[in-house]
Amino acid sequence: MATDFRSDTVTRPTAAMRAAMAAARVGDDVFGDDPSVNALEAEAAALLGFDAALFVSSGTQSNLVAVMTHCARGDEYIVGQQAHTYRYEAGGAAVLGSVQPQPLDHAGDGTLPLADIEAAIKPDDLHFARTRLVALENTIGGRTLPAGYTQAVRELADRRGLAMHLDGARLWNAAVKQRVAPREIAAGFDSVSVCLSKGLGAPVGSLLCGGRDFIRAARRWRKMLGGGMRQAGILAAAGSHALAHHISRLADDHDNAARLAAGLARLAELDVAPAETNMVFVAVPPHIAAAFAAHLAAAGVMLTGTARQRWVTHLDVAAADVDRALASVDRFFAAR
Ligand SMILES: *Cc1c(COP(=O)(O)O)cnc(C)c1O
Repeated sequence: MATDFRSDTVTRPTAAMRAAMAAARVGDDVFGDDPSVNALEAEAAALLGFDAALFVSSGTQSNLVAVMTHCARGDEYIVGQQAHTYRYEAGGAAVLGSVQPQPLDHAGDGTLPLADIEAAIKPDDLHFARTRLVALENTIGGRTLPAGYTQAVRELADRRGLAMHLDGARLWNAAVKQRVAPREIAAGFDSVSVCLSKGLGAPVGSLLCGGRDFIRAARRWRKMLGGGMRQAGILAAAGSHALAHHISRLADDHDNAARLAAGLARLAELDVAPAETNMVFVAVPPHIAAAFAAHLAAAGVMLTGTARQRWVTHLDVAAADVDRALASVDRFFAAR
């Protein structure tokens, strides 16, 4: 039996989620009359402390809509080199939004140093793009942003007239890890994107949250980007089910990641980063990396990376699956 540690995107809808989807009341969301979509948007806005929310097809679309709503053609956004919004979204903000990214290196804890943000803000001068937005990510690389950091960036942003967007694809994991309400992680941002299709286990969908005017403008960009979905209530019902039932259980994923990290760290050959939420990063010595990857693949242990592995725990990984994977790992090193 295979266990899929490649990503928390691989989760399949549970039987209860499928039942909620089958029973969903639907309308035409482009006309604004899909009751299940409207309910989900209201639930998300309330949960995250915003006026309004917009159901979108993916986190990529959500971040792009957000950047295009905050920034006009010729504007610029400050973002981390490793941020999904910059690195893993096919350059959409630049290509489709004509918005220039200003990527910055991350500090060791995943933050963007305040002095670097400040130094990157362009003067109001015709040589430069207009710096409009700072985009952060939480969790980033499986780690939560430190308490107090968002507020420090907020003070800088207010002083320099910038907006703030959070790519909170895994905001839920950050909230569960830090034992705070999701709205605490979202506080201070002008807009927040959250994924339903990662650890929360919904098949499709993200939500962009913000003020009422912001979301009204975002709705037009979503339409332009091809994201006006019709009887989307079938998908929204999965999202509502996920928000109601799958947030607090993320603690299980964090426990399983810690169990996995502890098991891997027993092996002297492996350099295992401490697991804070649901991701374990492992450095494998180059001379064994390919053979180790092949061994795990043959044993049905699916993950990404070879010399730098990423293991992700989620709804469809149980503690017993972790133990089975660790037994496969042990067999590899015992045979050497
Ligand atoms: C997965 C992810 C997204 C969006 O991904 P989609 O596959 O487009 O839904 C955005 N940001 C982060 C940090 C992610 O991990």
